[in-house]
Amino acid sequence: MHSYHDALAIIRQKMAGAGSAAPTEILRLEHARGRVLAEDIAADRDYPPFHRSTRDGFAVRSPDLSSVPATLTSRGEVRAGEHFDGKLGPGECVAIMTGAPLPAGTDAVVMLEHARMAGSAVTIDRAVTARENVVEQGSEALKGAVVLRRGRRLGTGEIGLLASVGKARVQVFVPPQVAILPTGDEVVPVDRLPEWFQIRNSNALALAAQVSAAGGVPQILRIAPDSRDALRRLIEEGLESDLLVLTGGVSKGKYDYVRNVMEELGAEFHIEGVAIRPGKPLVFGRLKGKWFFGLPGNPVSTFVTFEVFARPAMALLAGAEFEEPIFLRARLAESFRQKLGLTVFVPARVETRDSDPIVKPVGWQGSGDLVGVAAANCFLVIHPEQTDLAAGEWVDVLIKRW
Ligand code: AMP
Ligand code: MG
Repeated sequence: MHSYHDALAIIRQKMAGAGSAAPTEILRLEHARGRVLAEDIAADRDYPPFHRSTRDGFAVRSPDLSSVPATLTSRGEVRAGEHFDGKLGPGECVAIMTGAPLPAGTDAVVMLEHARMAGSAVTIDRAVTARENVVEQGSEALKGAVVLRRGRRLGTGEIGLLASVGKARVQVFVPPQVAILPTGDEVVPVDRLPEWFQIRNSNALALAAQVSAAGGVPQILRIAPDSRDALRRLIEEGLESDLLVLTGGVSKGKYDYVRNVMEELGAEFHIEGVAIRPGKPLVFGRLKGKWFFGLPGNPVSTFVTFEVFARPAMALLAGAEFEEPIFLRARLAESFRQKLGLTVFVPARVETRDSDPIVKPVGWQGSGDLVGVAAANCFLVIHPEQTDLAAGEWVDVLIKRW
């Protein structure tokens, strides 16, 4: 049985480079959010492209203001979108607007509120240092410098940067296709009225939503009954995708055939069981050149194990860097006990109170309780060595990205 961290490390190591040969496509920038960059992006010119004023005021030569008040002669004005022709000499200044290029000869901007104008005479009563209220040409990026590397997931900030360097179209990886295979004789389609002893196939829909949220293309397969032959056929169908995610049937019950059938098909298991709750029976491995996860069927187990293991794996398949779950810290609202020696994920809500983030479990009925997951905005993460936690202690939380 692997620890949470070991399991994550195994996935990362085994799947390193898994998406580097993924096919690519060219997309218009407005359709590229969430996709993974397949090319390095270089600055097409200096950023900023000129010494840029960050204030409305007067462009000056800072040595002219070594003693203040000082009266300078204005030579005109320069607005954003314009440039000032000519070079300023000692004792001269130019009215300048935010976003405008500094006139030659000047090295700083005095804010409007520190200047008084009388005709072309401008009296300034505050000294400035060189480069004050100015962003220097090339200080953000020099022409030719790589500003985004292949493998970077394109979030909103990256889209803005790509737009600023003129990349109206970008080369991105085609997102991985993820087959979702629900299993279980008791599981029926969501749009069918279940008998009292049957369960709706909520996992497939939740997983499909998680796959989409993680930047993949979900493909839900038919529900596999607990029979070897049907399971085998559907697994083979699932192996046509880049990643196969099964749910249910991976425990050691009499009718849990997933591991068995996978083995018969020649699967190599890299993980068989992880010391976490929920989600302990999870399996991960490779079969016929494809990666697979067998997630336990309990809805919260499926949900959590996808988030913490399959989602980072999907990032690698997508050509991105490994997107390890990031734990932030919050204070426990109430004491918490466990004696399991497991990493425990508890549906919880975090909110800020008196400037500290406070986390409180939502109160749940165990790993089948989707009502609890829906009420949560995070998971409280309890590590194996944390058996007895007092109210007010700092603990890890996994913030909602789903
Ligand atoms: P299993 O991992 O197959 O032993 O299933 C564990 C629990 O999860 C059982 O109570 C199942 O009914 C439930 N379950 C399995 N698959 C699904 C599914 N696709 N949707 C909702 N619940 C499921
Ligand atoms: Mg089952």
